[in-house]
Amino acid sequence: MPSAEAAAAARARNPIGAHVPVAGGLAAKGTAYADRIAAEAVQVFVSNPRGWATGPGDPAQDDAFRAYCAETGTPAYVHAPYLINFGSHTEATADLSVASMRHALRRGRRIGALGVVVHTGSATGGRPRREALAQVRERVRPLLEELAPDDAPWLLLEPTAGQGASLCSLAEDLGPYLDALDRHPKVGLCLDTCHLFAAGHDLTAPDGVADLFARIEDAAGPGRVRLVHANDSKAGCGSHLDRHENVGAGRIGAEPFRALLAHPATAGVPFVVETPSPADGSGHAADTDLLRSLRTPSAWSA
Ligand SMILES: [Zn+2]
Repeated sequence: MPSAEAAAAARARNPIGAHVPVAGGLAAKGTAYADRIAAEAVQVFVSNPRGWATGPGDPAQDDAFRAYCAETGTPAYVHAPYLINFGSHTEATADLSVASMRHALRRGRRIGALGVVVHTGSATGGRPRREALAQVRERVRPLLEELAPDDAPWLLLEPTAGQGASLCSLAEDLGPYLDALDRHPKVGLCLDTCHLFAAGHDLTAPDGVADLFARIEDAAGPGRVRLVHANDSKAGCGSHLDRHENVGAGRIGAEPFRALLAHPATAGVPFVVETPSPADGSGHAADTDLLRSLRTPSAWSA
């Protein structure tokens, strides 16, 4: 057993939590769930993840959620809707993507979130990637201009599993994507281990994790990684299938998470699971317990 001091240091280095369901109220449902699974970090949706609705939220729930996170020292993140695609060739989708992202950023700020995660999208309609990236620039730059330097949440880009004409799935894709956003200081990265593995980063190889972070640093520079989605994968490396599995139960296995939690690039970065779980949270509790057992202070403080 690590000492209480070592355990606190490990938690401070990598708070471990989950995407928590909030249907019924951010605070009423979300924080109760977070308590039940002893989450040290939380991620939430602030609107239907499969829709375009941009509701105002409930001020009392927002305040209570924000207070809970502040009082318990729990970093919070928002996941923007899945439909957002700044590379879409459909004008209406691009317009709705901007409105939806602006809403997520505003709601994120309101509830005290540190970052708002959005998928990097794809070049639909057979359009060249270059053209799609030019549109990403045109659509996202104004949103970045609206972010205050100090307290607004970061916009966190989440590379996808590489399905379809994905704009960003491998580490090398981050270079052109960040360039399109002029490497704005409020743009960070959310790394989803399932997506990276499915995209072709073999985290199970002996130097798989070190290789991943070396390539990310080459493409993105230091300090961009702000959040990890710690998910195992039902599908194989390079499959381009986005199928999350419980930590340790999939094709990645538990061991690579030990290396992920020990790597210098993850110092100060929360890990959040988006894995299958019964409504009582038992799946998330088991996954976060396992990750905590892999969070070994000796690996990085020795
Ligand atoms: Zn994810």
